[in-house]
Amino acid sequence: MNIILLGPPGAGKGTQAMRIAEHCRIPHISTGDMFREAVKAGTPLGQKAEQYMSQGLLVPDEVTIGIVRERLAQADCANGFLLDGFPRTIAQAEALDQILEDNPIDLVLSIEVPDAELIKRLTGRRVCKDCGATFHIHFNPPQREDVCDQCGARLHHRADDTVSTVKNRLEVYKQQTEPLIAYYREQEKLVSINGDQAIDQVFQDIAQHLEARQ
Ligand SMILES: [Zn+2]
Repeated sequence: MNIILLGPPGAGKGTQAMRIAEHCRIPHISTGDMFREAVKAGTPLGQKAEQYMSQGLLVPDEVTIGIVRERLAQADCANGFLLDGFPRTIAQAEALDQILEDNPIDLVLSIEVPDAELIKRLTGRRVCKDCGATFHIHFNPPQREDVCDQCGARLHHRADDTVSTVKNRLEVYKQQTEPLIAYYREQEKLVSINGDQAIDQVFQDIAQHLEARQ
């Protein structure tokens, strides 16, 4: 089964991706890992990607698509794969359809969570700069407010986790993803998953859709 996983920051996409990959016995292919592997392997495309990344530039589509094509041609993808972080644009989605030709995408899972809940999840994180321990003011609070349970240091609220930054990230996600959602809905491949539930329940809902298509 060839699957694409979509979901905003804070939706628990990483956890669900791991479970889906295990359940279906398919590789979880995240864009970040794929780039790192290509760069490490020193393939021509990996070298090209590195040139852009080392300058802080966006890797152009032709390079990204080439890396995806090479990755999907590897033996472990013969029985399917789970793509996470790709495609991001309609142009990439169309290129992916061309790469896959006779063996198209079967299912696009979109994990959906209300903005207010995502903001609660993402802005409540606290990290200890000294020992690396992480906490959450709602879901995993430290015993004493703003103090690390492990080492007693003062906890830190990352600038990435402030309300305005989080709202901005969610807005960027929506703008990027809405066209993709429409694209795959038209292909009748899109399934919306309620991500505003316990992790296990979210996976149960996903598993139902996976089994229905197997
Ligand atoms: Zn600490």
